[in-house]
Parts: sequence; C-alpha cells; structure tokens
Amino acid sequence: MILDFSLEEMTRFLVDKVGLKAFKARMVFEWIYQKAILDYDQMTSLHQSERDLLKEKAPFPTWTITEHPTKDSNKLTAITEDGSCIELVILKSKAAPTLCVSSQVGCALKCAFCETGILGAARNLTTSEIIYQVLLAEKKTGGIGNIVLMGMGEPLLNLDNVLKAISILHEPSGLNISPRRITLSTAGIVPGIETLLAANLGINLAISLNAPTDELRETLMPINKTYPIASLIRAAKSYQEKSGRRVTVEYVLLREINDTPQIIRSLIALLRRTGFHVNLIPYNPTSGDYKRPTLERINWVQGQLEASHINATIRQSKGIDVSGACGMLSSVIK
Ligand code: SAH
Repeated sequence: MILDFSLEEMTRFLVDKVGLKAFKARMVFEWIYQKAILDYDQMTSLHQSERDLLKEKAPFPTWTITEHPTKDSNKLTAITEDGSCIELVILKSKAAPTLCVSSQVGCALKCAFCETGILGAARNLTTSEIIYQVLLAEKKTGGIGNIVLMGMGEPLLNLDNVLKAISILHEPSGLNISPRRITLSTAGIVPGIETLLAANLGINLAISLNAPTDELRETLMPINKTYPIASLIRAAKSYQEKSGRRVTVEYVLLREINDTPQIIRSLIALLRRTGFHVNLIPYNPTSGDYKRPTLERINWVQGQLEASHINATIRQSKGIDVSGACGMLSSVIK
C-alpha cells in the first residue's frame, strides 16, 4: 500500500516498481502529505500515463465512510476493504482540531466499562490504515492540531505499525507532525511502554489507570493481572523521567465504584509526588452496567487531587450523542 512508505521507501518503490523518475516519486509524496490529495487524477504534475500506472500498482485505500457530525465533534465510521469497521473522531476546539485515531479493529483487553472490547478479538491496523485516518482528517479539517491514539484498540499491542506511522507523520517533507503533538494511550502494557521509551520518539504517554488498587483494577481491567499497578507506575515514572514528557493518568469516573472517599484517598497516595497529570473522564454510557458520578462528586474528586498538589482536569465528553466519546467506539457496524 502506498501509505505504508516513508519518503525514501516510496521513492524506491515508485522508481523500481512503477518506473517513475525519482523527482516524480517525491512529487507523489508531497501531493499526499503536503496537500492531502488522495486521488492520482488530481495530481496535475503527473502525466496521464503515470497516473494510470500508479492507480494500478499503488492504489489508495478504498473505504466506505459515513460521517456522524455533532456541534463539537465529527465521528467517521469507515468500512475497510476486508469489511472491518474502524472509527476515528475529530474533536473540535478553539485551536486546531484534535484527531482521535484507532490502532486496532476491536480490542482484546475487555475492560469492563469500554464498548470496544465487547466483540473481543482484534485485528491490528496496518501502518497505511493508521496514516489514512490522519490524511482523511487533514483533508476534512484543513489541518489537525494534536493526534491522540485513543480510539479503538490497544496501540502498544500493535507497536510496530504504530511506530512506523508516527515516523512517517514526522517526515519533514510530509506532514511534519512533531512527536510532541502526538499522545499514545495504553491500558498498561508494561513491556510496550519500555519499547516505546527505547524508541525515543518524544511522543506523550497516557496511561489508563482507572483504579488505584490491584484488587479493584483487576475487576475493571483484566490486563492488571498480567501487569499490576506497581509495575505500570514504575514504567510510567521511568518514561516521564527519561523522555522529559509529563505522563497523563486517565481515570474514568464510575459512580460508587472508583469515586468513593476511600478509593480517592488511595489514588492520592499512589500519585502524590509523581508529577503525573490526571485526566478525569466521567463515564460515558456503554452497554455496561455503570453510572457516571454526579457533577458534584466529579468536582469533589478534582478538588481532592488538587488539594494534594496533583494536577487534575476533567475531560469534556465530546461526541457522546453519536457514540463517539471515550469508550464508546465499537466495531459493530451500525
Ligand atoms: N487501549 C488504550 C487506548 C484507548 S484510550 C487505553 O486503554 O488507554 C480510551 C480511553 O477511554 C481510555 O483511557 C479508557 O479508560 C477510556 N474509556 C473507556 N471506556 C470509557 C467509558 N465508557 N467512558 C469514559 N471513558 C472510557
């Protein structure tokens, strides 16, 4: 697939396999990444014969896309060539919009409060499928700001393709997206965090903690049985220290489950002096049996954290009415 390639790889492929001159290959890369042109017929600096060859030998993905816009978001549901369903969400903001991309179809981790895990078994997205989401959003918005790997799937279980995609997005003669504008969120795959750190990309890391004790976290996130909280916090601290990037802790607030005074005391004890930033995410409805705390309780949790000098913000749930908010993306074709 044409979107699997760095500039160097694309040049080699188009010269060797399609017979283009190297400078024409560079033009193709620039059409795609600088102008978000995803149709060879619109690449006016190429001859018709070259366009026809490219269409045959290096086709673009052919997804069927449905848009679900709201006032503050736009969820794109895409059906891929193999019939898989991928969702990406464009979140509007005062600055440039943020794009939430998926890394897998479905998710194998089965977190109790998250819709994506419901179908279980996942397929990894290819590098091309990750890049294509970004290019579609670029085209739609005229320029996205931040990218968050917080859509469907667990990015650290598809690390090779995710890392390749990030490096292509970073190409100076392409989109030139700084790693500082990219945040990867993980449910806590500890060896994956270590590999990410070793790759030294300088992207931001977010960890979905959601509970401060192993006892509770195991009931909500089965992955905790493999990588308990202490190992996750250790890996996150090491990521923060060595990368110099502040780690974000995501905490989905579930009424009477992880928002009680006792649990919040444990959360504070766990996070005190780590320097992590906490993002409180009021639960968005799924087919699970949970409830969102009252606004009063949500504000109370934030106040308790802040009083202990732990930075905490409340994440606005954009896209809730089109099932486009955190935890609501599913690979069930609707
Ligand atoms: N698998 C990765 C990437 C997905 S990010 C991870 O877990 O981090 C999706 C974020 O949404 C996670 O922080 C998750 O904890 C949160 N989330 C899942 N279900 C949710 C729900 N129903 N309401 C609010 N947030 C939810």
